[in-house]
Amino acid sequence: MRKLLPCLTLLTMILLLGFPQVAFAQPQITQTSVVYTYGEQITFRLSLQSDQAVKKATIFFQADGDTHTNFGDAMIIPTGENLYELSYTHQIENYRLRAFSQVEYRVEVSLEDGAIYKSPPASFYYSDNRFEWQTQEEGPFIAHWYQGDMTLAQSVLDVAQAGMAKIQSLLALPAPASLDIYIYPDVNTMREVLNPSSADWVAGHADPDLGVVIVSLPSGPEQRLLTQQRIPHELMHIVLFQATGTGYTNLPVWLNEGLASLAELYTNPDYEFALENAVKADNLLPIESLCRTFPRDASNALLSYAQSASFTSYLHSTFGTSGLEKLVTTYANGLGCEQGFKTATGVELKQSERLWRRQALSENITLKAIENLAPWLVLLGAALAVPLILAVLRIRWRKGTKVESQ
Ligand SMILES: [Zn+2]
Repeated sequence: MRKLLPCLTLLTMILLLGFPQVAFAQPQITQTSVVYTYGEQITFRLSLQSDQAVKKATIFFQADGDTHTNFGDAMIIPTGENLYELSYTHQIENYRLRAFSQVEYRVEVSLEDGAIYKSPPASFYYSDNRFEWQTQEEGPFIAHWYQGDMTLAQSVLDVAQAGMAKIQSLLALPAPASLDIYIYPDVNTMREVLNPSSADWVAGHADPDLGVVIVSLPSGPEQRLLTQQRIPHELMHIVLFQATGTGYTNLPVWLNEGLASLAELYTNPDYEFALENAVKADNLLPIESLCRTFPRDASNALLSYAQSASFTSYLHSTFGTSGLEKLVTTYANGLGCEQGFKTATGVELKQSERLWRRQALSENITLKAIENLAPWLVLLGAALAVPLILAVLRIRWRKGTKVESQ
């Protein structure tokens, strides 16, 4: 037993020597910085403290609401004992990030012993930093602008409050807790922060999941009216998203845009002309065709907005606020365009559309049928008139003959 003890001690020592247990401290990110120029590039810089040499470092980043994760290998620069700087520059042309979104990033580091260190996530706000934005707040709305004075921003904030009141007269929805409104002085600069696939006529845009409204309000005599149109319109999209969450994308476009158009404090006068012309020319678009998308060409897009606003207004006057709310909830639950309509209102979409055309657009079908028959009625009249006139002339001629013979 006495001999055995030294043997065991030796074995323990050999085992320890054969499998050295070196305890490295967990690497640590000591400093981070992100520098970017909107639309051009983003540079990530992270300071890392690590007892082990760093073999590889990869930066991962993703904008809020985006499903695509970007990543890139960082340059590893030793800056002192156990200290490294990790640096990576992303070119926006390789992948565009959503403007005014929170971007989350992290780093994965491969160490000399093969271990992988994953940093906790950090984030930064990716805004349009090409301009010096000024800010004016009147809870819950925050107006940002970079051209002109505060008059426009204050007008936007006042219209947002009035727009919210109008929205609540249509649907009992709460105001957002906070909403950033970015005002651009022209459409082209605004489009540089929108999705490149957006249609040419888009002049306002809401990113409901980001809680951001982006709008162009060019200076000039129409600025006030444009503010009254565009701000409440985009605000309706935001509150609808907040009420429906992921179900928002299932709302038929005619309902979503119809409600947003009804929220406008100043109705686009072109809507009425577009409707009148379409009724006269008999080229109204079927509501069913406006369930998933609107036409991209400006003329039919205008007609789609006009029809959606008119049809949604008709639904509001027929089924009331509770009816509209039921419609929104039913669609947000995932029901299809026609099925959802029938479930929420008890009426077929087509039937409701027929009634709307007849009542709201004064498109009397009987009258229209008579109008269509008009050319034939003229021919029939002419055909009947000829023998009638001949008969009258014959009678007169006979009478004349009798008088002469008397
Ligand atoms: Zn809209």
